[in-house]
Amino acid sequence: MKKIIFISGLFFLFFTQAYAGNDNWKIAKSTHFIIHYKNATEDFVKQASDKAEEDYDKIASELGFNRFNFWLWDNRAKIYIYDSPEDYQSATGEAAWSAGTAVVKSKVITVFVSKPDFFNTILSHEMGHIIFREFVGFDNYALPLWLDEGVASYQEKAKYAAANRYIRKHMEEGDFMDLRQLSRFSGRASGDDETVKLFYAEAFSIVDFLVKRFGSDSFVSFCQSLRDKKDLEQAIASAYPFKSLQALDEEWQKYLNE
Ligand SMILES: [Zn+2]
Repeated sequence: MKKIIFISGLFFLFFTQAYAGNDNWKIAKSTHFIIHYKNATEDFVKQASDKAEEDYDKIASELGFNRFNFWLWDNRAKIYIYDSPEDYQSATGEAAWSAGTAVVKSKVITVFVSKPDFFNTILSHEMGHIIFREFVGFDNYALPLWLDEGVASYQEKAKYAAANRYIRKHMEEGDFMDLRQLSRFSGRASGDDETVKLFYAEAFSIVDFLVKRFGSDSFVSFCQSLRDKKDLEQAIASAYPFKSLQALDEEWQKYLNE
């Protein structure tokens, strides 16, 4: 008889009395994370730690990435949790629509207390950035923003359940961005809030299209090729039946209209 042992999300978390730096951060440490927080409750910090530990394994295995660098001891990722969006914005200089940031190379995630988005989407999105960049290379200049944000947003699937319908509405209204326009998009300077929202939805949709249509094995081989050859078009052609970015664009748009 086959026995299934279910291990629920029990992760170790040590709260310490130590304060880091001059900024009065309290610290809690788990296996792969050091969490810095101010006035968040211990319950919130515990939930954040559990979710981060869960995502640590889930995101890499869902994307099919083998991990070579384990986030242990001095290599742990750091999460900074501000008390409010105002505190977060004034400390980081981020825009009002920004709910979190990740400095991928040093594995630092900065967020603020918010419910329920914090656990369902924001933390997973920022983790997605770090895990993806760890795989394709931190200094990979072939990486367009739409792919980076697409993979991170792919970790928030529930939020983007209606993404294709939303994109089709913009196609009808005439402000849809094709892949070439998407590749020129460079973040907050590129448009208003609605354009930013559309950019994220489209970025999610392309990654979702690639994974749904061709599976995660092809996605891994695409990412490996991107890591090794550092050329987006070559990487696409080596893993998918698209000889050019334009061919990918055409198939994606066809899929959007299916
Ligand atoms: Zn992002």
